[in-house]
Amino acid sequence: SLDMEGALTARDRVGIQDFVLLDETTDAAFLSNLKKRFSRDLIYTYIGTLLVSVNPYKELDIYNKKQMETYMGINFFELPPHIYALADNAYQTMLTEFDNHFILISGESGAGKTEASKKILQYYAVSCPSTTLLNTVRDKMLMSNPVLEAFGNAKTLKNDNSSRFGKYMDIQFDSQGDAVGGHILNYLLEKSRVVHQNHGERNFHIFYQLVEGGEDDLLHQLGLERDAQHYNYLTQGECAIVSSINDRNDWKTVKNALQIINIEEINTNHLFGIVSSVLHLGNIRFESNSKGQAVLANNDELRWVSNLLGVDARSLQEGLTYRKIEARHDQVLSPFTVDHAIYARDALAKAIYGQTFTWLVNRINESMENKDPSRKTVIGLLDIYGFEVFYVNSFEQFCINYCNEKLQQLFIQLTLASEQEEYEAEGIEVIPPHRNHIHTGDEECLRPGDATDLTFLERLEDKMGNHPHFVTHKLADKMTRKTLERGDFRLLHYAGEVTYCVVGFLDKNNDLLYRNIKDVSLQMNIFIFFQVATQFKSSLLKLTEILMAKEAWYIRCLKSNESKQPGQFDEALIRHQVKYLGLMEHLRVRRAGFAYRRKFDVFLKRYKPLCPATWPHWRGEPADGVEVLVQHLGYLPNEYKMGRTKIFIRHPRTLYATEDAFEKC
Ligand code: ADP
Ligand code: MG
Repeated sequence: SLDMEGALTARDRVGIQDFVLLDETTDAAFLSNLKKRFSRDLIYTYIGTLLVSVNPYKELDIYNKKQMETYMGINFFELPPHIYALADNAYQTMLTEFDNHFILISGESGAGKTEASKKILQYYAVSCPSTTLLNTVRDKMLMSNPVLEAFGNAKTLKNDNSSRFGKYMDIQFDSQGDAVGGHILNYLLEKSRVVHQNHGERNFHIFYQLVEGGEDDLLHQLGLERDAQHYNYLTQGECAIVSSINDRNDWKTVKNALQIINIEEINTNHLFGIVSSVLHLGNIRFESNSKGQAVLANNDELRWVSNLLGVDARSLQEGLTYRKIEARHDQVLSPFTVDHAIYARDALAKAIYGQTFTWLVNRINESMENKDPSRKTVIGLLDIYGFEVFYVNSFEQFCINYCNEKLQQLFIQLTLASEQEEYEAEGIEVIPPHRNHIHTGDEECLRPGDATDLTFLERLEDKMGNHPHFVTHKLADKMTRKTLERGDFRLLHYAGEVTYCVVGFLDKNNDLLYRNIKDVSLQMNIFIFFQVATQFKSSLLKLTEILMAKEAWYIRCLKSNESKQPGQFDEALIRHQVKYLGLMEHLRVRRAGFAYRRKFDVFLKRYKPLCPATWPHWRGEPADGVEVLVQHLGYLPNEYKMGRTKIFIRHPRTLYATEDAFEKC
């Protein structure tokens, strides 16, 4: 019919909106559909209810209020794929089924995860019903973003606004569906960036915002120069100015946001005092005296630090240049070399910044706290730093990639296993699809007790030597591949090979402060001593538990090209991501089983007008009503199955037809 032809032409034009409907499940067909859509600025495509998004690197006019309204309350497959459709579907399901959900957003650095999470938050801010009072919670949730990005994001080689911490945010809704509260968990801020940046990268945005945008009075009070070049901690990457970033405007946004999240002026002042103290610390220099001991080369900076932090200048100086050793009933001061002093200075700067970040997150949480925690449901948003491979990869990349690996495992576990479980629970027989072997990194490789980076590596080699996904320089020589330096090791992650340089691993992992610097920091209520990897591992475990208790939604972000160019579709790069994100595998699982499923009562409630026997009321069991309904609609026996609580529909196409009929009635 004409209708059919119309539909076919539309398909040719815009590609297929759901990969489940693709004629063949080959990589080539997948990529070609993605490319066709991308060339028409259609960046979203589904695999069932999973959303694939390709970063367009240009502003698209698809995120306005009108678009939001279009997607409110619709059925998932009715309109073109959109992040709003997924957000809305999660929200509607939460309301009808009164359970908890989470949206896991993944993809490598620069793929668009953070933008996606912001769009979801904006959608809820507009779409949820509102009362004036509750609007404030919503504003706070929205405004927590610019603040956390200022303190936790930085320009890297991959992304000018790269998140350097992991973030899990719960949005809490009451039974009317109004957003009533929020809570943020943060993971592993990359503190080493405070004192060191690689070439082409910056420190956290807030430093540049303050120096560029801070009012004259403020800079004067804080003893700062209006010149990022003046600060040792801001210039190592040699790119303080970035064309895509307007630090001055961002400063205003952040100041305003701090107000909205209820941070009092006195605390804001204190906050910027601490931020400035870090810059002053970085400018403290040391010289070696005739005995090879470190002595302070400039006193002004030390005085600023002591003023701004409210700590005694003498003990600060002592802490930076001596190590305190406890001997029986005595304390002995042993002088540092210049290298040690620099280490102590940097350790203090990192600790101060890290604690400030934690303080900020706590304050944001207080301000978003749900004042009436009676019955509520949540939608969690997980935006975690993406898989990352640089020319040189250190401890930070190790932790980030480890985390990604874990989440990938969780994804596989949740989709494949729970798919199987659901079929079993519903008493439906499905032949399980082939499962690829998923690589695991060893979790035990970081623990206290190693003396140097190299002894750590040796122990790692002892333990991991035979692991198929671990390669050291000893082994690498035997292979035809690139050889490894003595201090390198290579892991074969699910997303690809990464060579890690072990230099600095132990320091970064131990993250410890010398004893008397710790005394100084105790004066300012800062307490720091933990093992990063261990702590990280346990928080990841906690996160996994949180996620396992919720219904999962997935957004997979793909990076379209490495040079951040609009409209460029780098096929090789995208093919690689499609592969390691397991998209084809996911597609096969979806096609092997049933793409669509709904609880009987939910299904019946929506489609009952389509059948005289179920309209306006079905008096019997919902399952029987559904059976009557789909028989009436002419579903063939192999097109659907009845589970214990849900109807399973093999192909969305069947549902499309039902939807069309529903629209017309
Ligand atoms: P990630 O969090 O995955 O590292 P971001 O979300 O920060 O990546 O995205 C990196 C950059 O890509 C953004 O700063 C923006 O310029 C661009 N970008 C991402 N998503 C979109 C989108 N949906 N539309 C337009 N540009 C986008
Ligand atoms: Mg990000």
